[in-house]
Amino acid sequence: MDKDYTIVEMQKQKSIALIAHDNRKKDLIQWVQNNREILNKHFLCGTGTTAKLIAAETELPVTAFNSGPLGGDQQIGCRIVEGKIDFMIFFWDPLASQPHDPDVKALLRIAALYDIPVATNQSTADFLITSPIMNTTYDRKIIDYAKRISRRTNAFARNEEME
Ligand code: PGA
Repeated sequence: MDKDYTIVEMQKQKSIALIAHDNRKKDLIQWVQNNREILNKHFLCGTGTTAKLIAAETELPVTAFNSGPLGGDQQIGCRIVEGKIDFMIFFWDPLASQPHDPDVKALLRIAALYDIPVATNQSTADFLITSPIMNTTYDRKIIDYAKRISRRTNAFARNEEME
């Protein structure tokens, strides 16, 4: 394997972030309801309003972060970086701009960088949740930041050009 990558093992029991913009909340709640039995086996969390609505409608335990426009997307992105969230269902609204669009973009970037499964619409969410590897461990391949930082700091110390 490339020396700049490392493997992070995703556990059988996944930590799933659930997020929906306002026009997509009903769809996500219905999707969670339809997949209640599967989702019940995992740890669920979400942005404030989405998490609370899902918990109220489905009676599943869902940890609520701040509301998205108040920093909830960034909190979820932070936990992806820390390895505490490894799966995301994010029904964002393709027909309306949001006050926190930069946060949404940042979250999607971090999710791609950390190689976590992301569904941004219902069909992808259906494919993911019914995947046979939903119930197994899985090796995510991510950039080894410790090595990368060390190489960059060494290059900086030697006054070389950094990547
Ligand atoms: P909300 O945030 O669940 O608090 O509405 C979602 C979002 O807009 O990112």
